[in-house]
Amino acid sequence: MTTPWTYKNNTLIFDNIELETFAKKVPTPFYLYSSRQLLNNYQEFYHQALQNDLPAPLVCFALKSNPNLSLLKTLAKEGAGADIVSVGELRQALSAGIDPSKIVFSGVGKRDDEILEALMTGEQGIYSFNVESTEELDDIITQAKKAKRVARIAFRLNPRVNARTHKHISTGYKTHKFGILEEDILVSAEKYKDSPYLNFVGISVHIGSQLTCMEATVDALKAASSLSSKLSKIIGHPLEFLDVGGGLGVDYSPQDKEVLTTPKQYMAMIKDVLEKEMEELPQRIVFEPGRVISARAGMLVTKVIRKKFSDSHQFIIVDGGMNDFVRTSLYEAYHELMPGIKREGKEQMVDVVGPICETADCFAHQRKLTPLEKGDFLGVADTGAYGFSMASTYNMRRLPMEIVVDLEGNWEGQ
Ligand SMILES: *Cc1c(COP(=O)(O)O)cnc(C)c1O
Repeated sequence: MTTPWTYKNNTLIFDNIELETFAKKVPTPFYLYSSRQLLNNYQEFYHQALQNDLPAPLVCFALKSNPNLSLLKTLAKEGAGADIVSVGELRQALSAGIDPSKIVFSGVGKRDDEILEALMTGEQGIYSFNVESTEELDDIITQAKKAKRVARIAFRLNPRVNARTHKHISTGYKTHKFGILEEDILVSAEKYKDSPYLNFVGISVHIGSQLTCMEATVDALKAASSLSSKLSKIIGHPLEFLDVGGGLGVDYSPQDKEVLTTPKQYMAMIKDVLEKEMEELPQRIVFEPGRVISARAGMLVTKVIRKKFSDSHQFIIVDGGMNDFVRTSLYEAYHELMPGIKREGKEQMVDVVGPICETADCFAHQRKLTPLEKGDFLGVADTGAYGFSMASTYNMRRLPMEIVVDLEGNWEGQ
């Protein structure tokens, strides 16, 4: 995977523009995004699906990873769909020009008003409600009656696999709140198969995020394939699609690189499993990638407020904090830190921390960096996913700004 950033003569360049050019005009901290990189990531993902002959791939970008309107417009123009988890995300996807017939709605807590709005969208409502409980079906029927529409339904399978990723982002085990167990899906398919308000069109499965070990994904796909044939027998026709979810990882750290599955390997693996496990491939394979499309398209830019020494310990205190970007605090995630200008001199072992009154407010612990001084800019790399979308105003701070470099190399505020 390429990056939108690189060093030229020890100066950090983002999309062919010096980082300092942005940082001198925009108040820090702010997010900087590359439309070009986002588009490349999307195209590579889609291309690999086609290369592996996966039928009529529909790539529904997971909005929760990055709902920036200008970035979404770039994806919409390319034909992308959306995976949404709230009515806010539905409206954002529609404003970006994403076709309702390419929108899937996931989440255990869809409210009645959200279901109704999604049903009323476009000519026929959204592409699919990825249903996370039998009880949700009753609510969808009630709203579909009101809307005088038929809801397109995909059961989200809980495949009882334990994805080896961080415990907060693993979702496919029976004690996790997501998805429905196979036995319960079969019972409710039997119960609801004749409902005039439901059209059973697919199965979805999503077992977690930043999945580096693919064994669990293979098991989940096998479980979904076997369910698919059982389900089509009950409803009397083959299912239109299989939604394989998202979760592909990004190599945030050099160690990640060794265990990372690339889109190319991922698509080949899906093709292999489905060919072995299914009598016939469905008409369409749906994907819900977030991170793999958006993470590497963004950087959080922050400024050094001051240095602090505590015995031999050196802290670099920056003006960005865990309210702006929470992954390093919440998941102890590793992110590369890139000075705007690499100063001469020996690398130093430092902790890079923010101003928030929490010990966890830390971008890096014991990291070797070139010397930094007050006023220097520092980029936190690969923060285009789960960055701004998880930002808060904790400690009464303002939300960070977002700057998008468009496909022509222009940016607002230039
Ligand atoms: C979060 C989520 C995704 C996207 O996950 P990534 O790890 O960003 O690819 C896809 N589908 C569902 C249902 C999700 O909750």
